[in-house]
Amino acid sequence: MTGSFTSFAATADGNSTRIVEPVMSSLLIRDVLLRGQRTNIFCENGRISAIDGEEHPADSMLDGRGMIAHPPLINAHTHASMTLFRGNGDDLPLMEWLTKRVWPYERGISPDEVYWGARLAILEMIRAGTVFFNDMYWDFHAVAKAVEETGVRAMIAAVLLAPEGTGDFSKQVAKNEQLYEEAKRYSDRVQFAVAPHAIYTVSEEALRWSGEFSKENNLVLHTHLSETEHEVKECYEQHGCSPVEYLERLGMMSDRLVAAHTVWLSEKDIAILGEHKATCVHNPVSNMKLAVNGVYPYRKLQAAGAVTAIATDGAGSNNNLDMFEEMKIAALLQKFKGNDPTAITAKETLDMAVKNPAKRFGLDGNPLQVGGLADLILINPDMPELNPMHDLASHLVYAANGSVVDSVVCDGRVLMEHRNIEGEDEVLAKAREASASLFARVDETNQD
Ligand SMILES: [Zn+2]
Repeated sequence: MTGSFTSFAATADGNSTRIVEPVMSSLLIRDVLLRGQRTNIFCENGRISAIDGEEHPADSMLDGRGMIAHPPLINAHTHASMTLFRGNGDDLPLMEWLTKRVWPYERGISPDEVYWGARLAILEMIRAGTVFFNDMYWDFHAVAKAVEETGVRAMIAAVLLAPEGTGDFSKQVAKNEQLYEEAKRYSDRVQFAVAPHAIYTVSEEALRWSGEFSKENNLVLHTHLSETEHEVKECYEQHGCSPVEYLERLGMMSDRLVAAHTVWLSEKDIAILGEHKATCVHNPVSNMKLAVNGVYPYRKLQAAGAVTAIATDGAGSNNNLDMFEEMKIAALLQKFKGNDPTAITAKETLDMAVKNPAKRFGLDGNPLQVGGLADLILINPDMPELNPMHDLASHLVYAANGSVVDSVVCDGRVLMEHRNIEGEDEVLAKAREASASLFARVDETNQD
C-alpha cells in the first residue's frame, strides 16, 4: 500500500472541523531488523500489538525486507509554515531579517498560505523521518488541518504576541481559550500548547496569564528563551534579573515549559531549569545562522536535570527541516565549542531527538515496544553512507541525512512507502504558488 495525503479529511474552518475517528485498522510490517533481530511488527488501531515472526492477517502490509526499524525523530521547536520563507532574506542581521523579510509578509499571510506552508514542511519532515513537531505559528487550524490530513503528529500553538505598553490583551486570551476548546475536536495526533512568543514581545501580565492557563489545563508552555545576549541585557535593565529568573518569578517555570534556544544562561539559570525539569531545546543551525554568539550548554543542562532536545527552528532560519543534519551539527557544535571531542556522544545526541522529550509531548519514552504507539521509520542500510555498519547510532548522527529513510509509519498508517508519498507533486505546486502569491501581494501593497 501507499500512504495517502488525502485519506484523513478535515476542514480548514475551526468551527466545522470534524472529529477525526481513531484509527481502526491493522498493518503488518514484514521482515524488518529490530534491535538486531529479523521480525514482523504487527500494528492494530494505532498501537503495536505484536513483535514476532507470525504472519498476522492485516488490512495492509509493508515490506520491510532488509530494512532497520527505528523510532521516528522529534522536532522539538519549529514554525512549520515558514517553509514559504525559505531562502528569502538570508545573510541579514536578525532584526533586519525580521523587520524587512519576515514580519511584513507574516502580517499579510492567509490561512490557506499557512496551510500549504505546513503541508510542504510535513512533506519534508516525513521524507527525513520526523513524524512529530512542536509548532508555534499564526493560524492554529490551518496547521492542525495539515497535520490531520497527512497523518503525522504535532503540538500546535497559536503564537501569543502582546508587547508591553500595547494595552489590553483580552482578545488574545479569548482566542487562546477558544482554540483550546476547538482543539479537542481533532484526533489525538493534534495537541494544543500555549505559546507566549518571548519575554521581549509579551507583557508581564500576558506572561503571567500564559503560565496560569498552562497550569490550570496542564498544557505545554512553549516559548523562545535566552536566545541572544541582547535579550539577557535588556531583561536585566528592565527587570533586574535574567530571563530564566524572570520566568520563575512570574510562575512560569515548571516541567511543562518547553524553551527554545536557551543559549545565554548563567549557572543559576541552569540550576533553575534543571530543578524544574524544563525542556531546553537546542537549535544549532538557527543559532549559528543568526549568529547568536553563544552555544547551548548541553552537558550542564543535562547534569542539572533539564530535559534536553534538538530542533530545526523554522525553515526561514535553517533552511531545511532535516533532523539528521541537525543532530550532526548539534554534536559537532558541542565538541567544537567545548574543545572536547567527548562533549557529547552519538547516543546522547540521538536520545535528544528520539527519547528525551517524548514524554513531554505525549509520545513513548521507550518506543518500538508491544503496546506502544505504532510510529516508526525504516532505515535503508544499503545507503553507501551507512556502510560498513559498525555502529548505527554513530551512522545516524554523523553519516546520515534524511535520504536514508525508506518508509515512515505513524499511528499505524504508512505515510511514506519506499520513498513514495502520494500527492507530493500537488503539495510542491501549491506551496510554490502560495509563496509566490504571498510575496507578490505584500510587495504590491507596500509599493502603494
Ligand atoms: Zn523559533
